[in-house]
Amino acid sequence: MMKMKNDRLKEINDMVSIVKLASLMFTGIIFFQYFFDTDELSQNMIYRQSAYMGIFIAGLILLFIYFLWSFPSAKRMDKKNYRYIMFIENLFFIAIFFMSVLLSGGYKSEYKYIFLFIITSSTIQLGLKNGIVVAFISSVLILGMDILCLPNMSVNKYFQNDLILSGIFILTAWPLGFYVKIEGEHISKLEELVNKDGLTQVFNHRYFHDTLKEQVAISEKYKEPVSMIFVDIDYFKNYNDLYGHQKGDEVLRTIGRILRDNVRQDDIPARYGGEEFAVILPNTTEQEALSIADKIRKTIESTKFYGEENQPNGLLTASMGISTYPDKAKDDVELIKSADDALYRAKFFNKNRVETYISILDELKAEIDEKDIELVTSIKTLISVINAKDRYTYGHSERVVFYSRLLADKLELSNEDKNLLIYGSYMHDIGKINISQDILIKKMPLTNEEWEQLKRHPEDGIEIIKPVKSLKDIIPIILHHHEKYDGTGYPYKLKGEEIPYLARVLTVVDSFDAMTSNRPYNVRKTYDEAIIELKKYSGTQFDPEIANKFIEVIQEYKDKLDTLL
Ligand code: GH3
Ligand code: MG
Ligand code: MG
Repeated sequence: MMKMKNDRLKEINDMVSIVKLASLMFTGIIFFQYFFDTDELSQNMIYRQSAYMGIFIAGLILLFIYFLWSFPSAKRMDKKNYRYIMFIENLFFIAIFFMSVLLSGGYKSEYKYIFLFIITSSTIQLGLKNGIVVAFISSVLILGMDILCLPNMSVNKYFQNDLILSGIFILTAWPLGFYVKIEGEHISKLEELVNKDGLTQVFNHRYFHDTLKEQVAISEKYKEPVSMIFVDIDYFKNYNDLYGHQKGDEVLRTIGRILRDNVRQDDIPARYGGEEFAVILPNTTEQEALSIADKIRKTIESTKFYGEENQPNGLLTASMGISTYPDKAKDDVELIKSADDALYRAKFFNKNRVETYISILDELKAEIDEKDIELVTSIKTLISVINAKDRYTYGHSERVVFYSRLLADKLELSNEDKNLLIYGSYMHDIGKINISQDILIKKMPLTNEEWEQLKRHPEDGIEIIKPVKSLKDIIPIILHHHEKYDGTGYPYKLKGEEIPYLARVLTVVDSFDAMTSNRPYNVRKTYDEAIIELKKYSGTQFDPEIANKFIEVIQEYKDKLDTLL
């Protein structure tokens, strides 16, 4: 669509440029005709004329060159400056035409109609208002010239004739401009039909993708950030099941309106899919996007929806994910993906919240050997594959890293150990790449065979990271993170202090996150319930000392955890 629009603009510009070029040639003819017809002129006047002509020729040549240059490149013109440049260009033409009228006899000139060239071309390019302005300026010039040159004539024949000519100027600009206007309005109506989503009146999926590509290109060119908000309605399936799809559609319509009302003029709200929306925010930082998203979230939360009291959290709400180019994504595809990832984080944390995209591996890259960066990048890909397979544990690794940081400080680990723990935490589940999605998201208890498969993930994990030399010290952490303190864990049934210390630390935080997150097979525990669980298994599953320290951390942070994570 955008391309069609640009092509159309380019074709119009090409056509108008031809007209302007031709008109320049006419001016040239007028001018030369006059230059060689110097019989009646005095010597003095010839000098003066020659000076005018010198300037005039130079102007014409410059204009000619400008046109030859701008002809093929009209498509490159920046939209913002386009009207401005065109207006200046038109004024320049008026000046050239006026000079050629002056040179060809001033008020007596037979070439006053030459202004029609610029009146028609400027009306076509810039519309009704501009056309009328150009026609008006042209009329004032020729009428003014008549009055100034022949002030004492009782019947000014030239003035009378030029009044008619001015009428022709205006009557050319007006209907032509009107036609351009009607056509423009018609095109925008059609555009709206093609680009908007019929139900929600925000832009549709196709327009969203076209615009995103364009915005990322603009953002790259001007070195500005572009942000994206992804929106997904919470428990919408539940709502549809309760009240039917028609009522559901009403909700979608209302959310569409809320989006339109809460974004800024240049933002692009769109319906991404069924009940998912996305907003493109040009020239917007993550922080600004965050505040806009939160405003939208609050408005949805406080809007009264039919029957919302029967939604699981008593209200109809939406979750949102934010990402920003170029900080968090390297192109449009990654921007969508990372905003979508952030959205799933928001879903994870009890929904009705806004999350930004965080990538621990990007941080990790800064500390890793240059030569291993590529391998680490492929590990990142593996982790996103796991996340994609198992969306509801999404962000598990990130949260385990978060807890590990806090616990590392509490345990007063050395910096080196702290980093090992963080990287180990991030990659501890990487061996799950081999496990099928059915097993990962299975709600029923696993069969023996499935269970055996799941238990292999620590060993599979270390196979993956073995080639990365700078990760060799995290191998024991990953290999032993499912060992239990009483020796009943896997893979080696290590006991107590036989289990590497950092692996024992990871076991505690990993289990805590599993308890407190939404999993297919169990209900999320509150932080207090999880603390009871930690205490209960202290000494059997967990190293009691580490578990105690972690309980202290959670007690300290539990009120803030939801906002910190
Ligand atoms: P979650 O909180 O995790 O987002 O749960 P959810 O139930 O909202 O799940 P999901 O985001 O997968 O929502 C999909 C549901 O959205 C399925 C369908 O009932 C509903 N839906 C999708 N498109 C439309 C639509 O055009 N109209 C209506 N009324 N409902 C739609
Ligand atoms: Mg959805
Ligand atoms: Mg949903």
